[in-house]
Amino acid sequence: MTHESAWVTEFMQMVEASTPGEPAFHQAVGEVVPSLEPVLEKHPDWREGRILERLVEPERVISFRVPWTDDSGRVQVNRGYRVEFNSAIGPYKGGLRFHPTVDLGVLKFLGFEQVFKNALTGQPIGGGKGGSNFDPKGRSDLEVMRFCQSFMTELFRHIGPDTDVPAGDIGVGGREIGFLFGQYKRITNTFTGVLTGRAIEWGGSLIRPEATGYGAVYFAAEMEAAKGGSLEGKRCLVSGSGNVAQFAVEKLLDLGAVPVTLSDSGGFIHDPDGIDRDKLAFVQDLKNVRRGRIHEYAEKHPSATYTAVDRGLDHNPLWSTPSDAAFPCATQNEMNGTDATNLVAGGCRLVSEGANMPVTPEGQDILQEKGVLYAPGKAANAGGVAVSALEMAQASSRTFWTREEVDRRLHGIMKDIHRNCLEAAEAYGRPGNYMDGANIAGFLKVAKAMQDQGVV
Ligand code: NDP
Repeated sequence: MTHESAWVTEFMQMVEASTPGEPAFHQAVGEVVPSLEPVLEKHPDWREGRILERLVEPERVISFRVPWTDDSGRVQVNRGYRVEFNSAIGPYKGGLRFHPTVDLGVLKFLGFEQVFKNALTGQPIGGGKGGSNFDPKGRSDLEVMRFCQSFMTELFRHIGPDTDVPAGDIGVGGREIGFLFGQYKRITNTFTGVLTGRAIEWGGSLIRPEATGYGAVYFAAEMEAAKGGSLEGKRCLVSGSGNVAQFAVEKLLDLGAVPVTLSDSGGFIHDPDGIDRDKLAFVQDLKNVRRGRIHEYAEKHPSATYTAVDRGLDHNPLWSTPSDAAFPCATQNEMNGTDATNLVAGGCRLVSEGANMPVTPEGQDILQEKGVLYAPGKAANAGGVAVSALEMAQASSRTFWTREEVDRRLHGIMKDIHRNCLEAAEAYGRPGNYMDGANIAGFLKVAKAMQDQGVV
């Protein structure tokens, strides 16, 4: 990683020394700190108040045992976490991830990013993240229910509609939110907006499932529009095939673009004819109902090819597919330097991150050097948490907005985030740089609130 100054190097050394064994967290902090140097130069009071030193330290970290019984009667033990990172501008807010790679460092990276992202939405929400190393893949609905009930039996005492409001993330969709909410309600005897991503019938918001994917595409459309272009007719690479990827594809179709890839942890499909609405409906049934694998897409649609993951390769061939734009929507570090080089060679000129931290620092440097329009996740995928905040507002005022109303608000929020990123980047001497702009705009809001509230 290239640090820009002695101050950045020193700060990162402090972070790394005080949090050993948390490489994803170091990476997330390392992406932000260099952007903030010009801000701290203008605000010596924030430097004096050690705002940044406080900001990299979570306000609270909770770790707990999650015992449960599988279908064969065997006792299983997982580890659960909630990282309550920063509540300067509102209650902690951020998803729960159930995936075998989950550990404290991963959740701290996600929680740290969430603080900036939530500030960017303009909504009154602080940042948090949680989850477990539990793997729902291959588990029955009853096993998932027992796990969720055990997880919530500890988590409930730490969260609340005015304290900390979790939502979904990888491995936590509508099914899991239902089981978690049911157990919270049973233990506390309250029906509140303690989780977002709820179904419409029990307090959810329309457009919440769509919001992250739609938002990442709205953001890309804004980047195009700022250059006088549009997404119409553009060939788009999408990775992942879960919640974010599915609705990114849907919005790309709405805007006349041509999505041509999807993936899962087994491999990717390339459909040069385009993934149309019927094919998307097949993917949604495959992934959300049958819980199958993406290779089945190529078996069903002769226009598509399937490429299995080859662990011996130093790159992901998905990103070598010719394209105009790319939407990484699977997981962190899914596009490295070689991938970024291949992506640019294939014609790609725009990257909008649906996932959190999907591009490695080396990949980011290459995209920016080559003049690719690059939107970091904390800006581009903020639509999900923004609509979660709208879900909280609807729940607490017991109102219910139409689809059109929520979508209009989401679209407006994504346009505002886009504009704020550009304006912040311009104001601090990094014109056109969305990454610096997102880091600076998010930081300005949180830092001011922290300074106002004293040393807490
Ligand atoms: P889902 O669980 O619905 O889907 C995740 C997708 O990514 C699946 O296709 C999964 O494949 C693939 N994937 C996950 N881990 C890996 C891995 N290690 N290697 C390869 N593929 C992998 O999650 P979401 O769609 O909700 O989340 C996707 C990304 O978007 C994450 O980075 C998340 O943090 C981010 N995000 C999500 C938001 C939301 O509202 N849901 C909000 C903001 C960001 P497989 O099934 O084979 O594991």
